[in-house]
Amino acid sequence: MCFMNNGHKKVGIMGGTFNPIHNGHLRLAECALVSFSLDEVLFIPSGISWLKAGQDIPKSNIRCEMTALAIEGNSRFKMSRIEAQRQGNSYSYETILALKNQNPLQDYYFIMGADSLVNLENWKCPDILLRECVILAAVREDVDRKLLEKQIDHLKDQFVCDIRLLSMPRFDISSTMIRRLVSEGRDIRDYVPRKVVQYIDEKHLYRQS
Ligand code: ATP
Ligand code: MG
Repeated sequence: MCFMNNGHKKVGIMGGTFNPIHNGHLRLAECALVSFSLDEVLFIPSGISWLKAGQDIPKSNIRCEMTALAIEGNSRFKMSRIEAQRQGNSYSYETILALKNQNPLQDYYFIMGADSLVNLENWKCPDILLRECVILAAVREDVDRKLLEKQIDHLKDQFVCDIRLLSMPRFDISSTMIRRLVSEGRDIRDYVPRKVVQYIDEKHLYRQS
């Protein structure tokens, strides 16, 4: 278990496919940064999982470039290619172990949506992930907080873990919605940082549904 308040740097981890990254991801990261006084948030675009090999997901490099454009200008947001560079599946527990190995003096806070917390037992080696970092689980304003607290108690019964709730305002967008809007030729400027909108346009991404 991590020992907090030890002078270690507090680093949030924001993982995702980021296909594309959008303002919901950025708000979630910002909310975690402020609410838990993190020093920085590390955005980690996923590699292409063999499970999704048949799907039309832009190469990790493209998703990394969009992520870099989205966080540019915010000195507390960083990006890591640790999963993008790995072949095949990236498991979060492997990522955490690799990061801790590289940076033993950092404490990690894994940021996730409530949906992921409910599904966490099905991830590979949840015991290792839970042992190695604090989990920040985002509660959207309308989600049943009681239900999540029950899930946290359930996880605490089985694993050594430190799971904390992160309250954030509801912002109903997803990458799926952005891709659909682009394919329909509609405007995404309210949901995606300007430079990412430009990039999507220049690279002709998501034009076909
Ligand atoms: P897709 O629609 O392709 O599944 P997505 O928008 O859900 O994409 P992901 O890259 O799958 O994005 O998500 C990464 C993380 O961001 C997840 O933990 C997810 O719960 C969280 N997240 C995504 N959209 C929002 C949002 N609008 N508000 C808060 N958290 C979000
Ligand atoms: Mg998703």
